[in-house]
Amino acid sequence: MKKIKKIEVLIVGAGQAGLSISYLLAKHGIRHVVLEKGEVADSWKNQRWDIFQLTTQNWQNRLPGFRYKGKYPAHFSSKVEVTRYLESYQQKFKLPVKTGIEVQSINKKQNDLFEVLTNHGKYLASSVVIATGSFSTPNIPKEGSQLPQAICQIHSSAYRNPGSLPPGAVLVIGGGQSGFEIASDLSQRGRKVYLSMGRTFFLPRRYRGSDIMHWLSETGIVDLPASFFPGGPRMSSTPSPVILRDLSELETKKKPGSQACSFATWLNSSQVTLLGRFSFAEQSILNFDQNLPQALSEAKTYYQRVTRLIDSYIKKNKITSTAKGTDCAKIFFPMLLPTPSKIDLQHHPIKTVIWSTGFREKYSWIHLPVFSKNGNPQFKRGITQMPGFYFLGLHWLHNLKSGSLFGVKDDALYIFKDLLQVLSTQSFKPQIYPNTKSSLATVINTNSMR
Ligand SMILES: Cc1cc2nc3c(=O)[nH]c(=O)nc-3n(C[C@H](O)[C@H](O)[C@H](O)COP(=O)(O)OP(=O)(O)OC[C@H]3O[C@@H](n4cnc5c(N)ncnc54)[C@H](O)[C@@H]3O)c2cc1C
Repeated sequence: MKKIKKIEVLIVGAGQAGLSISYLLAKHGIRHVVLEKGEVADSWKNQRWDIFQLTTQNWQNRLPGFRYKGKYPAHFSSKVEVTRYLESYQQKFKLPVKTGIEVQSINKKQNDLFEVLTNHGKYLASSVVIATGSFSTPNIPKEGSQLPQAICQIHSSAYRNPGSLPPGAVLVIGGGQSGFEIASDLSQRGRKVYLSMGRTFFLPRRYRGSDIMHWLSETGIVDLPASFFPGGPRMSSTPSPVILRDLSELETKKKPGSQACSFATWLNSSQVTLLGRFSFAEQSILNFDQNLPQALSEAKTYYQRVTRLIDSYIKKNKITSTAKGTDCAKIFFPMLLPTPSKIDLQHHPIKTVIWSTGFREKYSWIHLPVFSKNGNPQFKRGITQMPGFYFLGLHWLHNLKSGSLFGVKDDALYIFKDLLQVLSTQSFKPQIYPNTKSSLATVINTNSMR
């Protein structure tokens, strides 16, 4: 029989969130393990398309203790560069990751310890951090099963490049960042592309002379809670804003986003045909809602709300030498000819459907009372009602930057402090790595956590 391993903190997932909390624990000599079913940075390696680039800038790659220090702070990392960044983080700080180990169930048992069952044996842990991400379980609406068999269907996380798809036109369903970027990639390489959009929000790449990321950070917009944004506090219902790129930028390596790309210019240059929200399929006929005028009016309100905040920040702080604000009317209009409400695939060149319909994480392997009736994890900034049990890195865990390379550090520090308190009261006495002088008491009182 395999030996049961005891550990102070067990982290599930070795993406940026799992590595960040591991860094804080390692720095303070607290024994822990990170269990990863794939490899370090697995989702960046295996779930992004070939020409993927971050929408955030390199200066925002700032995991705890590991800020970006390269020559190109204003550029956008490719998926290979992000992967390297995370791998170097793990290697530099010798973070204790065990790859190829999948956590299959978690229960609270035995003297208040969490019982964690994996494909390689059992652990008993004082605390557990779930860092499995918000973007790893593809969500394809049930209507997908209504499409004719002859149509090739994939999720955006499985898309790599146009050459990997059958010849013919492509319907991309979903108007988030992935939907827009995949549509761009395909249309730039000569494919006829249709893009079906539900709710969507846009922000300009550049505004008032700086990259939008500069303003979102400077003004504190990224720190605002979900309730500020349209869609309200229901985290998953608040799509992230789409930042439209000049199509040529996707081709040009090491070039910062220099052009403001508006929705109208994107539409003109990409030649993508817009459709309303995909509703249902009946045999070979796809049905689409007429929601685009409403969606775009909502997007315009959002755009105005955010850019006005930036304008008033600039005014209040007497910031000079910035360009004028963009005329919102030019961004969203001319809009919109009526869009087709039906497409019959029997008489249409669409041969592939790419579902850019997001992700829906499943937590059926966690047998603890930390979920709402509909299965969403319940927490306050990652801290659940069950002492010692945490979530980290989720989209909207706390604010707009929570699920990003830029924001995970703040949430990691927040749960780290709570974790230390919990460990200090556990009956299972935590062991400190022998080579550090920290004791839990000094760690809790220290201000040197960053
Ligand atoms: C298309 C797309 C574009 C994005 N663009 C940006 C951007 O420009 N800038 C930015 O900062 N962020 C961006 N993000 C958001 C975010 O940074 C990434 O989703 C990031 O991967 C989240 O990191 P994470 O550590 O929370 O989760 P992940 O990177 O998903 O890591 C979770 C890990 O947990 C592992 N795992 C899951 N279940 C188990 C289990 N049961 N047992 C063991 N291991 C398990 C997985 O294999 C995975 O490696 C983007 C996300 C997507 C999907």
